[in-house]
Amino acid sequence: MDDDGSQSGRRFSVLISGASIAGPTLAYWLSRYGFNVTVVERSEAVRGGGYAIDVRGTAVDVVDQMGIYPQLQAAHIGSREITFLNPDGDVAGRIRPEELTGSEEGRDIELPRGNLTELLFALTQRESIQYLFNDSIESIKDDGNGVDVTFKNSEPHRFDVVIGADGLHSNTRRLIFGPEEPFSRYLGYCFNGFTMPNFLGLSHESIAFATPGRFAVLSASGDTDTLHAFLTFASEAPPITASQDEKSQRRLTAEMFAGVGWEVPRLVDALQKADDFYYDVVSQIHLEQWSKGRVGLVGDSAFAPSFLSGQGSSIALVGAYILAGELAINQDPTRAFASYEKLMRPFAEANQALAGSGASFLLPRTEDELNARNRALAGRQAQGSGTMPGDDSRTVHSSLRLPDYSAALVPEIDGSD
Ligand SMILES: Cc1cc2nc3c(=O)[nH]c(=O)nc-3n(C[C@H](O)[C@H](O)[C@H](O)COP(=O)(O)OP(=O)(O)OC[C@H]3O[C@@H](n4cnc5c(N)ncnc54)[C@H](O)[C@@H]3O)c2cc1C
Repeated sequence: MDDDGSQSGRRFSVLISGASIAGPTLAYWLSRYGFNVTVVERSEAVRGGGYAIDVRGTAVDVVDQMGIYPQLQAAHIGSREITFLNPDGDVAGRIRPEELTGSEEGRDIELPRGNLTELLFALTQRESIQYLFNDSIESIKDDGNGVDVTFKNSEPHRFDVVIGADGLHSNTRRLIFGPEEPFSRYLGYCFNGFTMPNFLGLSHESIAFATPGRFAVLSASGDTDTLHAFLTFASEAPPITASQDEKSQRRLTAEMFAGVGWEVPRLVDALQKADDFYYDVVSQIHLEQWSKGRVGLVGDSAFAPSFLSGQGSSIALVGAYILAGELAINQDPTRAFASYEKLMRPFAEANQALAGSGASFLLPRTEDELNARNRALAGRQAQGSGTMPGDDSRTVHSSLRLPDYSAALVPEIDGSD
């Protein structure tokens, strides 16, 4: 980066923390608007692989405008079926994934998370964006005219604006608003994600096993030797032991699933051995304001909706597009943050609300909820009736129309080199 944090002919300098979905999307658009962009990422590289995520509704317009929609379509998994199992392992019903998620067939995309992040990252390589990998912000000092930042590894630097795109447990949010607890809304579940061999020969499909309060999901992202496995359990409050270390998290999950039927013992065993295991609570982020002074937040760090909404990636893409556009058309960052939030908040909150309808269907906590799920599945299969969570969500996915910021684009410099 330049000594003064700016380049001649460029708008002001922006530091983005996080290089996953929101970060590179924001970086791409800011660069297209002529900003001088630096991205700091804790990991050594942009992470590939991962579970399936979705790009739906308004977010499809974002990736289309970025010119990567055809590549996303090529990576579309095209899951065909979800099979729901009862506590004894018997089949309760089968539905198409769209009936659960509200995805629009032929338009919305389901792809491995790493494919999306790699595509977004590759796109930003064509722009003059500086990445600081294996690094993290240590301190932020906003004096009203600029933000002084110190890093774990890199030299301190002054930026005009800092944006946190560093996820559910955002470091930037902690630095400007304090610890996570007041902003985190726990949704009553804890989950473990890991991969294991495709011992069932699944292809383009998922199996969702449920006994009240305990759930196992296996997903095959296409024709693959590997399954993405999730073991989720209901808990009134987040278990304290599980926040400690991996060993206690693995042990706690084994205890929670002791005596549960179907193939669950095999999954628990695989979880004990998995080297890509991660554990977290299912939670959302709700903040009264997404910015403070010259520091703003986007994606999960500002409005995480949880995987129960299925919309985290999509609203991260849309939020990044709008934030970049508002920074481009407003001279003053605080004004830009205010209009970004005004446009984005209703959309983010409507998508966060989708988590409620998905939960009792996918993760029934009681016999009554399990029976209601089974009745809906039976009704759907017998007469095509029976309400599915996806029925209402499709309109929410597309409930925001993207503003047009094209007047703020700077002419593209020859990108051939
Ligand atoms: C199990 C699971 C299933 C999901 N399923 C779906 C789904 O079906 N559909 C869907 O749309 N969404 C789904 N999601 C949600 C989706 O993954 C997130 O909403 C989305 O990734 C948010 O993007 P983001 O860029 O805001 O944050 P993240 O993807 O969380 O990225 C944050 C980035 O910041 C980096 N970072 C963290 N701390 C620091 C630091 N201190 N300094 C620098 N960098 C840092 C991280 O390494 C990471 O690269 C799921 C999530 C989970 C966990």
